Amino acid sequence: MGLATFRAIRIDKAEKGTTAALTQFDEAELMDGDVTVAVEWSTVNYKDGLALTGKSPVVRRFPMIAGIDFAGTVLESSHPSWKAGDKVVSTGWGLGETFLGAYAEKARVKGDWLVRLPDGMTARQAMAIGTAGFTAMLSVLALEKHGVTPKDGPVVVTGAAGGVGSVAVAVLSKLGFHVIASTGRSAEGDYLRHLGAAEIIDRNELSGPAKPLAKERWAGGVDSVGSTTLANLLSMTKYGGAIAACGLAGGMDLPSSVAPFILRGVCLLGIDSVMCPLAPRQAAWARLAKDLDHAKLAEITTEIGLAEVFDVAPKILAGQVRGRLVVKIS
Ligand code: NDP
Repeated sequence: MGLATFRAIRIDKAEKGTTAALTQFDEAELMDGDVTVAVEWSTVNYKDGLALTGKSPVVRRFPMIAGIDFAGTVLESSHPSWKAGDKVVSTGWGLGETFLGAYAEKARVKGDWLVRLPDGMTARQAMAIGTAGFTAMLSVLALEKHGVTPKDGPVVVTGAAGGVGSVAVAVLSKLGFHVIASTGRSAEGDYLRHLGAAEIIDRNELSGPAKPLAKERWAGGVDSVGSTTLANLLSMTKYGGAIAACGLAGGMDLPSSVAPFILRGVCLLGIDSVMCPLAPRQAAWARLAKDLDHAKLAEITTEIGLAEVFDVAPKILAGQVRGRLVVKIS
């Protein structure tokens, strides 16, 4: 039988806010679920930064195990789709928010939440992609569904040196798009060009108040920043184009006008990874296995240990993390 306790990052409610610590977690405290997984890899996403620092109330149950995504091997299952030894990936569904999460040697979850690790992808690679990379792929799929193709013109990616942004740049360039990468970090120019960016622009160009309509610059975009940046993206989108909005690293507001929608037929495509149904999840993971170059993924990835997540949590919120952080659990 398994351990009575296992290593985990536990979040508790404190008098003021929350506390987070690496500690032993009692297996008896795990929540109900039909699949128990030995977690091998997790990651640090923007939302993990919020949960670990307590900066935003993303954790809504205590005690909580932090961590919104994992990859690992099934230990026990009473779910018809899964048996011991299966390699699985889990992102979202409230993991690390309302349901005990990923920064732990064990996770007990609902079998309906799991996706099979794609052929040819390791658990470490799946988490190098993680929620951020999965979200980038959902954004690319939304642009494709809208009909945006490389011959329609360039695509823009904001927050390009971050997790969502890095994967979006790599995938879109592999698909043949002329990618314009917007970043606040001029020092990451070489990194972004190497991932496939054809042009790099300073994010300040897109951060001021947006005009209702501006010169048409791109046929599509992936935006992880929100606020005035998203408003500028919309005002600069070509006739009939679309922007996939997936993030709020620059703010939750959207000070825009209806002009791009009603005068240029521009579409705003909303992207949610958390409650995304199983079929599009599986489709996105299959496309990540096919359309994300392994060598580029390796370049995006920095490996850390479980105890190091505390140091990087404030850094990801400050926009100081490049690419993706993968966390070795066991
Ligand atoms: P990262 O911190 O890795 O990336 C965010 C990037 O945004 C930063 O690296 C930085 O890029 C840029 N940025 C940060 N602060 C600002 C600012 N004030 N103004 C303009 N740009 C800024 O985070 P992730 O990639 O993990 O997540 C990105 C966003 O996507 C987050 O808001 C996150 O909550 C959201 N998200 C949404 C999901 C969904 O389901 N919809 C799922 C996953 C993430 P640079 O230095 O290149 O400018």
